[in-house]
Amino acid sequence: MMDNINHLKELISTPKKIVITTHRGPDGDAIGSSLGLLHFLTEVGHTVSVITPNDYASFLHWIPGNDKVIIYENNESKATQITNNADVIFLLDFSQISRIDKFGNIVQSSSAIKVMIDHHHGADFSLANLVYVNSSSSSTAQLVYELIETMQMEHLVTKNIAECLYLGIMTDTGSFKYASTSSKTHEITAKLLKKGIENSKIHDLVYDNSSVNRIKLLGYCLSNRLRIYKEKHSAIISLNAKELNDFGFKNGDTEGFVNYALAIKGIKFAAFIAEKEGIVKLSLRSKGNIKVNEIAKEHFNGGGHINAAGGVSQTSVDETIIKIEKIINNF
Ligand code: 5GP
Ligand code: MN
Repeated sequence: MMDNINHLKELISTPKKIVITTHRGPDGDAIGSSLGLLHFLTEVGHTVSVITPNDYASFLHWIPGNDKVIIYENNESKATQITNNADVIFLLDFSQISRIDKFGNIVQSSSAIKVMIDHHHGADFSLANLVYVNSSSSSTAQLVYELIETMQMEHLVTKNIAECLYLGIMTDTGSFKYASTSSKTHEITAKLLKKGIENSKIHDLVYDNSSVNRIKLLGYCLSNRLRIYKEKHSAIISLNAKELNDFGFKNGDTEGFVNYALAIKGIKFAAFIAEKEGIVKLSLRSKGNIKVNEIAKEHFNGGGHINAAGGVSQTSVDETIIKIEKIINNF
């Protein structure tokens, strides 16, 4: 991955107009790695913008640089103009053009040099000129830190950069519990802590910051919408648009719900299905060797990691449940 590190170092050695973009429904890693990189590149003299396809959960809005993020959906003309003028575009935490929706057309038609930094399987390398992909890395935020380190520019990592990258690593490792959390992850985390960040404060801001509605929706899900398939070691949770509406759904409210299904003894496969903005979205999780990224790719036009993936369904919530039941039956 580090073969073309010198190209990157050279690319950023003179001031450039840079756009950083990340996937739709930005999560902690998407927004943390993007803003971490924005602060770093700004520090070394570039003009940098972060453009996301849509907004992200309010529990991420405290992040340093939040006010600098341009949301394509809300500001198409500004985002398009900045992208058309960019010298370099960084693609962070995704590696398939469909993941940035309509903004993908603008990115693809731009003549800027494209740099991909990602940790998902199944990258489309043709999207970028420079590619830094490592699917065994905990997070894109970790990869960003490693790139800075390999370029021997670690001393430029400020507290703001450290907060952003810590957010990415913390959320994508499930607070340092997933198998992707390596000794390298902890070493980098230690270096971020030495920059003076308050890890416990960041954890509180993300995980202990729910609305009453969100917690009630979680309760409703677990009491009324959890299906267990004991023999198949599987579980499904589903919510339709009306149910979400009844609980005043806001972006990010259902994040992490799928993990409750996986927390049940004996459950090795969990699916969370929700109808959001007219789209039936899926989150798939597993333990062991059930490859949910393959299931997502084959059946739901999606992808992700072996034990955590997502996609979309072209049918109703109820029909999607039936489809997943068929998949489960083949386990
Ligand atoms: P989540 O279930 O938290 O939305 O996503 C889990 C993992 O799957 C993340 O790594 C995410 O990037 C990936 N993922 C989620 N939805 C999609 C999708 O529609 N397409 C692809 N390729 N990956 C997805
Ligand atoms: Mn990620």
